[in-house]
Amino acid sequence: MNQEIEKLLADKFPIYQRDENIPSCFNYWGFECGDGWIPLLCDFADEVNNLNLNHFRIEQIKEKYFRLIIYIDAEGANSDIAAAEDLTHLFEVQSMTRCERCGEPKSKEHKCNERYKDPNKMLEWAREIINRK
Ligand SMILES: [Zn+2]
Repeated sequence: MNQEIEKLLADKFPIYQRDENIPSCFNYWGFECGDGWIPLLCDFADEVNNLNLNHFRIEQIKEKYFRLIIYIDAEGANSDIAAAEDLTHLFEVQSMTRCERCGEPKSKEHKCNERYKDPNKMLEWAREIINRK
């Protein structure tokens, strides 16, 4: 992911702030997925913030078999932990319908929005989505 976009996400959503002192894939590598999934990552952060967890940490965010995979470490009531796990599954499923590259919904004959070719346009697009939150 574009580093400037990573910074926008981390500034807006504290769950995406990386801590070098804690070894994890996310803290080491950051987002291991394309910029097109920013809308999903924003929604995921909102949903997590609505839960009442005592502790929440991202372990890894990556693309695998064209899906968004989010591994988390959560502590709190069992129902809240289960809800957080459910969210990771929900967003994995949602990622199948959204293009990882350009961010548009994936149709059968998907043609990428041209912005994916221009990092500045992707940054502007991401800024708009993140600011809308
Ligand atoms: Zn696309």
